[in-house]
Amino acid sequence: MENELIRIFDALTGFAWTTLPEGCVGLINKRWCEYTGLSIEEAKRQAWRSAVHPDDFPTLLQGWRTMVASGKPGELEVRMRHCDGDYRRLLFRMSPLMDPSGRVVKWRGINSDIEERRRAEGTARLGEPNLSVIIDSIPFPVAVTTPSGEVRDLNQPTLDYFGKSLDELKGLKVCNLTHPEDRPGILAAQSKARETGFAYSVQSRHRRYDGTYRWFNLAGMPVRDARGYIFCWLHLLIDIDDRTRRGDVPSTAERDLSSIINTIPALAWSARTDGSGEFFNQHYLDYVGLSAKQANEWGLTVALHPDDVHDLTAWWQLVMASQTPGETEARLRRFDGEYRWFLFRVNPLRNASGNIIKWYGISIDIDDRKRAEENLRLSEAFLAEGQRTSLTGSFSWSLDTDVIVFSEELYRIFEFEPGTAVTLERIADRIHPDDILLLSDKKADARSTGADHDYEIRLLMPGGAVKYVHVVSHSTRGRCGQREYIGALQDVTQRRVSEETLGALRSELARMAKVNSLGALTASIAHEVNQPLSGVITNASTCLRMLAADPPNVQGALETARRTIRDGHRASDVITRVRSLFSKKDSIAERVNLNEAAKEVIALTQSTLKNSRVMLRTEFSDDLPPVTGDRVQLQQVILNLLLNATEAVSGVDDRPRQVMIRTEEDGGDFVRLTVRDSGVGFRPEVANKMFETFFTTKSSGMGIGLSISQSIVERHHGRLQAATNEGPGATFWFSIPRACSNGAESNRAVATAMPHGIDATSTTGNP
Ligand code: ADP
Repeated sequence: MENELIRIFDALTGFAWTTLPEGCVGLINKRWCEYTGLSIEEAKRQAWRSAVHPDDFPTLLQGWRTMVASGKPGELEVRMRHCDGDYRRLLFRMSPLMDPSGRVVKWRGINSDIEERRRAEGTARLGEPNLSVIIDSIPFPVAVTTPSGEVRDLNQPTLDYFGKSLDELKGLKVCNLTHPEDRPGILAAQSKARETGFAYSVQSRHRRYDGTYRWFNLAGMPVRDARGYIFCWLHLLIDIDDRTRRGDVPSTAERDLSSIINTIPALAWSARTDGSGEFFNQHYLDYVGLSAKQANEWGLTVALHPDDVHDLTAWWQLVMASQTPGETEARLRRFDGEYRWFLFRVNPLRNASGNIIKWYGISIDIDDRKRAEENLRLSEAFLAEGQRTSLTGSFSWSLDTDVIVFSEELYRIFEFEPGTAVTLERIADRIHPDDILLLSDKKADARSTGADHDYEIRLLMPGGAVKYVHVVSHSTRGRCGQREYIGALQDVTQRRVSEETLGALRSELARMAKVNSLGALTASIAHEVNQPLSGVITNASTCLRMLAADPPNVQGALETARRTIRDGHRASDVITRVRSLFSKKDSIAERVNLNEAAKEVIALTQSTLKNSRVMLRTEFSDDLPPVTGDRVQLQQVILNLLLNATEAVSGVDDRPRQVMIRTEEDGGDFVRLTVRDSGVGFRPEVANKMFETFFTTKSSGMGIGLSISQSIVERHHGRLQAATNEGPGATFWFSIPRACSNGAESNRAVATAMPHGIDATSTTGNP
């Protein structure tokens, strides 16, 4: 089907071609190629231009632009070079191909050779023979040039004015006799005129035979034949020197103004009070590819995108009705068919009595900016989506001005009204009361050291919900050198909640294990003690019976009494074994850094501490000597002390719940770890019992923590002690010998069984 179409296309008697809306060559048939001697590829590379007669090229270009701008079919006569070198006259017929929405998708054209027909009509080169006669009869300088600008003829007044012969003048370029300041204006006007086919007019100075410059109005106009074809240009020099000196013609300033208007890099225009277009600057006309006349006829909506016509017209009506300046955006079609976005701004010009006499407008190409804005909007949307999905917001905080900028997601996390101003006070309002000190610390640190931050903090929402957020920020210098923190904040509540659930499960398990082992211990104690006890009772009863017999069986009674004693010893052995359960354990001897051991315990108890709203402070000695012992057992002691302290402060609501863990050297040979709390403390009479097994003042307590801790510390050749504080709360501490450098201490510490079992030794007083 396609091949068939191409065959038909090639077989057409005329030259057939198509182009895209912006003018790129699409298809070209065989006959066209045969005529011009150009290949399709050459034609596509713009070589077709070389086949057009140079004099006809401007006409073709102008005709084409007019047609593209109007979107309507049309025809033109143009001379095209035959492959044998001769130019022949062709009739170009062009029409647009539109899609259902009326948009031009293609132009198609047919060229037919009308050279013979024109010759037959005898219309070639109308009036040419009479042209010299005509121009010679004009009493002021006149020049005739070919459509491409070469001098063909000059009349006598021209030769007289310049004081040169025809040949001399033909050899000179026009600019040689023109005032240097006026040359660019003339050249621009003439090339524009050649391109558009419209007349031109400029004020310029030309040098007379005597070397003086006089002002002229240089007006050029095309001379066309019967079919409208330009075959030459007439250039008239009308002397306005006297008028200029009188001030009747535009001054240099006025001409400058007009060139400014035409050179400003924007489309400038003016409109009458009824809204109709009055003036369009050269940029405007060049952009839309129309003549001033066409633009004036078609008015302000010329070349507007069909979708924007309604809105722009409505806006224009509104601006005119309100009599105030206005601005809007709309798309304008360029001469090549491409639409670009423009910003339209309009201002009224009022007369002395305040009435509007004109509107001045300017349209600025904002297409590139709009595209950049769109791209920016898209990437911002991506970023916002990413922030929403990862529950991460970003912020900046200027240290000098305290101006804080939140991303959309941060507003959501903090539950702030979007767009409202964010201040340090508003942020502090949202921080959990127990973490407010942390925030103050971080703020102070930012201002003093400018260090990077990476921490977790809790927020307390107005509804009572607690959020955990992880903050990472980095200090930087803004564009003007101001100090700034840029950071990200992630809502990690979900993660924390699951961690806490896990933590709660873990401690519940530990509690169960404790209860179970205690239950098993009780059962085994009961079982082991029951057996010898029932033996004791049975033997004692037998013994009684033997003694009560008549005669008493003294031998038997002695035997059973011995058995009673044996069973009594067995029961006592059981008790000894139970006691040794606390002391005889396989221990591992290793070097332990109490700082590290304590840090691990703190990490384990994080969620318990947080739940109990405990503010934990640590004071770890930097160069703490190691101790030797069983790391796990020592950690069990620290854990017991820390949990006891936590429980002690949990009953306090009228003051901060503070717990402090400190490590230090104790008298040179010992290392001390202290746990101090601001909790309920203890009474002196309790002090003596606290270390006893099963002593507890808590409804759910088991009273074994301190006693086990005591035995562990003693096994490490140390002492565990307690004291009430001067203020509220209690302090528990233990000291154990520092490790010997040769490791001898370690062997002694662990291999020796605990000498005093679990007997309590406690002191009171300040550590
Ligand atoms: P329990 O877990 O049953 O409390 P412990 O042996 O750990 O067993 O403690 C025994 C008792 O010592 C506690 O019931 C409490 O009365 C007292 N005690 C322990 N630590 C503290 C402390 N930090 N402040 C006040 N009293 C404490």
